[in-house]
Amino acid sequence: MQYEPVIGLEVHVEMLTKSKMFCACPVVDSTNAAPNTAVCPVCAGHPGTLPVINGQAVEFALRVATALECTIAPISIFARKNYFYPDLPKGYQITQYEQPLGEHGTITLVTARGEKVIRIRRVHLEEDTGKLTHVEPSGSGRPYSLVDLNRAGVALLEIVTEPDFHSAEEVRAYAESLRALVRYLGVNSGDLEKGVMRIEPNISVRPLGQEELGTKVEIKNLNSFKALERGVAYEINRQIELLEAGGKVAQETAGWDEVKQATFSQRSKEDAHDYRYFPEPDLPPLVVSKHWMDDVRFALPELPWARRRRFAQDFGLSLAESWQLASEKAAGEYFESVLKASDSGVRTVFAWVTGELFSLMNAAGTGFDSAKVHPKELADLLKLISDGQINQNTGKAVLAEMFATGKPAAEIVAKKGLTQVSDTGFIAKIVAETLAENSGEVASYQAGKLTVANFLFGQVMRKAGGKANPQVVRAELEKQLK
Ligand code: ADP
Ligand code: ZN
Ligand code: MG
Repeated sequence: MQYEPVIGLEVHVEMLTKSKMFCACPVVDSTNAAPNTAVCPVCAGHPGTLPVINGQAVEFALRVATALECTIAPISIFARKNYFYPDLPKGYQITQYEQPLGEHGTITLVTARGEKVIRIRRVHLEEDTGKLTHVEPSGSGRPYSLVDLNRAGVALLEIVTEPDFHSAEEVRAYAESLRALVRYLGVNSGDLEKGVMRIEPNISVRPLGQEELGTKVEIKNLNSFKALERGVAYEINRQIELLEAGGKVAQETAGWDEVKQATFSQRSKEDAHDYRYFPEPDLPPLVVSKHWMDDVRFALPELPWARRRRFAQDFGLSLAESWQLASEKAAGEYFESVLKASDSGVRTVFAWVTGELFSLMNAAGTGFDSAKVHPKELADLLKLISDGQINQNTGKAVLAEMFATGKPAAEIVAKKGLTQVSDTGFIAKIVAETLAENSGEVASYQAGKLTVANFLFGQVMRKAGGKANPQVVRAELEKQLK
């Protein structure tokens, strides 16, 4: 039988506000701040304290919900979600339940088959929990757990989709789009490995053509795109194999085991919590005026998917190529600046930015924000190449030096004497020398082994210190070999 996978996603995104959702504690990088240094009686859940809504967190949430084309609720309600866990000091989490901040949105992805629209079910604000570290001492020591409340109470946005995905690839494309969005909007760093964006796919399969959804399994807290893609693919296969063998999928929550590259069951539907939600009595309803909504909408930047489409349409790039630039706000801006300052054409600029520059940045672990090569300077370098002053390979070496030192191309070329040599007299001389030194190769060329010409070309270029104009060398070589 043919099966169709169906997947819906819940994503938690920490809001990069200065202070926490309901108190004045600073938001710190929980991967390196000393434990329990950003805690107060409010987020530690002491009796008698009262929460206050962080306006900046609401503003950030509104940006995301608006960018996702959600309908914004003029009045939304915070609720208590009750459960006991050591990382939840109050014994309940403040979240939004019946009336979330935003509903009924959309997001446009690109997959190998083109653009696809995914429906967003809801976007709501809540608070994060603390962090537990489980310690198992060797020897006779008893296991214990450490509690760090630095993260407790940090503003968290939950974004839930409809079950609109049908492959691991689509799921990954969505997660990447969402990451691009929150970075564009300045509400999250996008550092998944730090746990500031956590992804929970709900996965089921059904016989192809069947309307009714199959039983779903939810994988908790994935914090890398790779784990997400593999976890979803693994779970799809597991469920299909189970059904094929006559079994039944049990509704459960699963974890992802990095070592085994497999999902494992955490808890079944039977031990699902009863959260006893009720409206938070310590907070008023959250009111968002029409004015506020309009201000947020007006201030939104060009969104990643709009830019992707524009680059594709205006510059003739494929959607995938366009996304290489549009997925990173600063990369797209950089590309456009180079293009404006240069007459080298889209393909050349695209190749240099996404090829040479991307790999220099990857190797250095830096981004466009801190790039030492100003767009105008890259345009100048491309001009030296198109004018024939230096060749392509020298250009790459010059760019690496520009990247390392911040010096302009012309200065590096002049100082190192890299200017390309097109002088036919000089080139004729080194070609002649090379042929004389390689009489064996010349003989085999003349005996019909034409590929030897490439070797000889390489020898000439080396003799010229890489500076000879390759077109002139090829022409001269051909002439002399004849
Ligand atoms: P829960 O209450 O268990 O969290 P929800 O109905 O709220 O479940 O849905 C959570 C997420 O799971 C949503 O993204 C939704 O689209 C998705 N989802 C719901 N049912 C299924 C299913 N049968 N198969 C795949 N995804 C599903
Ligand atoms: Zn606090
Ligand atoms: Mg769920």
